Amino acid sequence: MIRRLMLRDPKVWRCSSNEGAHILGLTVKNGSGKRELLLYRNAIGDDVGEEVDVIAVVVGLVMDVRCSVCGKVRTWRPD
Ligand SMILES: [Zn+2]
Repeated sequence: MIRRLMLRDPKVWRCSSNEGAHILGLTVKNGSGKRELLLYRNAIGDDVGEEVDVIAVVVGLVMDVRCSVCGKVRTWRPD
């Protein structure tokens, strides 16, 4: 069975590398209009079609996320 996710207002969430722009995850709005982070297992480049595993949905807490490509840390803060 295929589970379809409805992503509201998805935006890529990238690491803080100047040269990089590795994608750490996606931010979407949930049903109550709060933004949450779908965190990927591994950061990816701009390679569309690369398969991703979502390892966590982060909502409502501040969290440091380390890029698995370049090691830079970006802090996630919900709206
Ligand atoms: Zn990076």
